[in-house]
Amino acid sequence: MTTKHVHAIVIGAGMAGIAMGVSLRKAGINDFVILEKGDDVGGVWHWNHYPGLTCDVPSHLYQYSFAPKPDWSRLFATGPEIQRYHRAVAEDFGLMPHVETNAEVVSAVYSDGGWDVETATSQKYRTDFLISATGVLHHPAIPDIDGLESFDGPVVHTARWDDDLVTDGKRIAVIGTGSTGVQVVSALQSGAAQVTHFTRTPQWILWGPMDVQQPKIVGSVLGRVPFANKLLYRGLLEGSGILADITTRKTWRRTVAQNAARVQLLRVRNRQLRRKLTPDYEPFCKRQVVSGAYYTAVQQRNVELVDTGIERVTENSIVTADGRDRKFDIIVLATGFQAHNYMRPMNLVGRDGLTIDDAWAKGPRGYRMTAIPGFPNFFTLLGPNSPTGSVSLQFTAELTSRYIIQIMKRFRRGEFTAIEPTQEAADEFNDEVREAIGPTIWNTGGCNSWYQNEDGTIDLWPWDRKTMAKMLSTPDDRHYHFTR
Ligand SMILES: Cc1cc2nc3c(=O)[nH]c(=O)nc-3n(C[C@H](O)[C@H](O)[C@H](O)COP(=O)(O)OP(=O)(O)OC[C@H]3O[C@@H](n4cnc5c(N)ncnc54)[C@H](O)[C@@H]3O)c2cc1C
Repeated sequence: MTTKHVHAIVIGAGMAGIAMGVSLRKAGINDFVILEKGDDVGGVWHWNHYPGLTCDVPSHLYQYSFAPKPDWSRLFATGPEIQRYHRAVAEDFGLMPHVETNAEVVSAVYSDGGWDVETATSQKYRTDFLISATGVLHHPAIPDIDGLESFDGPVVHTARWDDDLVTDGKRIAVIGTGSTGVQVVSALQSGAAQVTHFTRTPQWILWGPMDVQQPKIVGSVLGRVPFANKLLYRGLLEGSGILADITTRKTWRRTVAQNAARVQLLRVRNRQLRRKLTPDYEPFCKRQVVSGAYYTAVQQRNVELVDTGIERVTENSIVTADGRDRKFDIIVLATGFQAHNYMRPMNLVGRDGLTIDDAWAKGPRGYRMTAIPGFPNFFTLLGPNSPTGSVSLQFTAELTSRYIIQIMKRFRRGEFTAIEPTQEAADEFNDEVREAIGPTIWNTGGCNSWYQNEDGTIDLWPWDRKTMAKMLSTPDDRHYHFTR
């Protein structure tokens, strides 16, 4: 197969990859491809289609600033509607001719001012810039439970849901208590014969009007008055600053928000059940779960909450540590993702043979979410320290993509042939992160979460949106090595 030469490669056509593609097109850079492992764009919204999947960010905020959608059908959109939105954006902004699906990047090796990239189907590329938008929640985590493979019925991870799976009338075990576990239990309860929710660690659940429809009139007014639509987005973006405030600073606002979560638990009338559902850490310490339905669902007669550890799975049952054996037809794994993989597994090799596994031996880290020392002309969107759960991810992806475009424009003007952040700049950034993480609820709230790296550092953005905008407004030349 011949090697294709392009100016830029974006890996991943999820929300962030699409934002990057639109920025490239807007900058007049058309010599690029987006390589996507899946068979469609949309990222997590393409891969995940389990019952009950709903975004916990209001629809009018969980969208790009450059593509406001007036006619969302609900205040909090469902997964399929968000997926349709992403596909429409990719089409409307002319990205589809650039997207290659079923193109998993397995190797990317830097040499002489460019990258040699190879896909699983052995297609080879040579590119000046490599931009990774591979996402955080991509590789399903399968729990290591004795006998799981011996179960006779379907065992399905929520991120690989089988749409033909019949759940009505079945006895279903759901393992895992994050947002997904909560959503899937709430959605399956009404049709299933029995839903048993295995909860190792209960979650705080904040109430939200997740099922409320957006009146049609709202969509049509916003459609006819684009200014109002933009104003609504802007207002929600500003308003969402409260989340960064609550999570990063110990103020009365955090106390109020935490108490709102605590009060919700009183909806659970049975004391024993309420005790089982009460976490031993503070609200907002983990990714905050939002649901309007779970506490109702979990109190129905066909739902059981089991907080005793799972000992083993047999061909038709789950046996808990207290010796109880419960029979099931289906096991649903709502057990999340290997969140710190980012672009791995991939043979990513930077300057002087430095591999990403070596660079990240102590956990993923970089410079301002987007660059890594030793990896020239390489950038990440929503890379290490991205604000999962505190700042709009669309805002972050758009901001980062504009930052990368500024660098690419300078390359095109001939200012340099290669650029990479200095180790000092990355170390300084990571020291600042470590210090700022100190008072955040993720650090002080007394929980274990997927935000934590193996070495205990917390992989999140510890500041607000304005600090982010400042850090990623213009590249600071003092923080980069240039090869001229
Ligand atoms: C079930 C679920 C629910 C969520 N709900 C919310 C929510 O309610 N609110 C919220 O703010 N966030 C939510 N998120 C977080 C979500 O991850 C982000 O909001 C956002 O969609 C991430 O976009 P992304 O483009 O960074 O990553 P992704 O959407 O994961 O896209 C990355 C893409 O890269 C591709 N890829 C990966 N590796 C390769 C490779 N080697 N070669 C080629 N392609 C590759 C993947 O196939 C994928 O399509 C949710 C995530 C999940 C999994």
